[in-house]
Amino acid sequence: MTDAPGAGAANSARSCIYLDHSATSWPKPPEVVDAVVNAMTACGANPGRGAYSMALAAARLVFESRRACADLLGVPDARDLAFVSGCTEACNLMLKGLLVPGDRVVVSSMEHNAVSRPLHVLSLGGVRVDIVQADATGTVHAGDVERAVRAHATRAVICQHASNVTGAIQPIGDIADIAHENGALMLVDGAQAAGHMNVDLAALDVDAYAVSGHKGLLGPQGVGLLYLRPGLDVAELLQGGTGGGSSEEESQPQGRPERYEAGTPNTPGIAGLGAGARLWLAHGEEWRAQEQRIFRGLKEGMSAIPGVTVFGPASDEPCVPTLSLVSDRMDCDRIAFLLDRRYGIAVRSGLHCAPWAHRTIGTLETGAVRFGVGYGSTSDDVAAAIAALTELLA
Ligand code: PMP
Repeated sequence: MTDAPGAGAANSARSCIYLDHSATSWPKPPEVVDAVVNAMTACGANPGRGAYSMALAAARLVFESRRACADLLGVPDARDLAFVSGCTEACNLMLKGLLVPGDRVVVSSMEHNAVSRPLHVLSLGGVRVDIVQADATGTVHAGDVERAVRAHATRAVICQHASNVTGAIQPIGDIADIAHENGALMLVDGAQAAGHMNVDLAALDVDAYAVSGHKGLLGPQGVGLLYLRPGLDVAELLQGGTGGGSSEEESQPQGRPERYEAGTPNTPGIAGLGAGARLWLAHGEEWRAQEQRIFRGLKEGMSAIPGVTVFGPASDEPCVPTLSLVSDRMDCDRIAFLLDRRYGIAVRSGLHCAPWAHRTIGTLETGAVRFGVGYGSTSDDVAAAIAALTELLA
């Protein structure tokens, strides 16, 4: 097999060469689509809210999806994983549920707006935010985090697992050790890591880990996960119905995961995410190797185009399958526009909701054009993108 998973059947209906996997994976595997449809048809009742057969089937579906996600992410007790609307909600929940005025946090300069914006709001309320600069490839160095953490009492270290701009993988295990040795919590934005990387939360030893369901994990949009270490007391963002504990009247049930899952759940999204997790459990090693091989071809080909600067770790360094580039011959928005209109290649230009990251790599003014491969990508897609950009910039 020479191409990424899904390159056959799922792609025969493709309307474009899709290289925007860092934004969201597309096309979704048929197993995911089927699971979503099943949750809206045969299992369409509200889970955990009724004892009739279809409600129980829906509850089982949510239970099984949570179990599959826990198995994939190395979480021993699936109740420590809460379903949320996406990584943005997960980041808001872990930050706003933990930090209080007077706390000081250390955060990497590569963070997405899903982290920097809630931190900004918290800083207005008296949380001190100190930024650790990553290098020009977007890589955070554990020694720099250590110096920052030791400089002042620190409540939490916050760092992404992988960059949505350069694909750099951060040394989360080392950073978590530094945080814990200094009495701080370790909070991680894992949006770009889950799926593309083998994430083992038990081994990583972090306190909270935010996950996007619709990117590498191949679920539909509108679903994600938050892992919270057992026993960590994090205030919930929302209060409301959980399907049980109604005799407690006003107070939100404190058990997991219901404390964090007020309101009718996104059952179709959860079902699709569970199907994606099961696919990764079955094929992870093979699929990741294929993604990496296709991505290396992309990175090497793009780096060889005259006048193009590719940002990120060297092509033989570990990274998730995302890169950003600029050209000295054409503006980034125009490149993305022409790749779409002339060649049917879907990529995103701009700041990718990560102005801090672009400031770090020196592209805050220009933005960059981002390419990401994933499920369904082929080496032909990559060859077509390299040929198109070469022609555009000739
Ligand atoms: N963090 C990073 C690094 C991301 O790339 C994204 C998605 N662009 C998010 C957070 C937000 O994820 P979601 O779309 O699931 O809310």
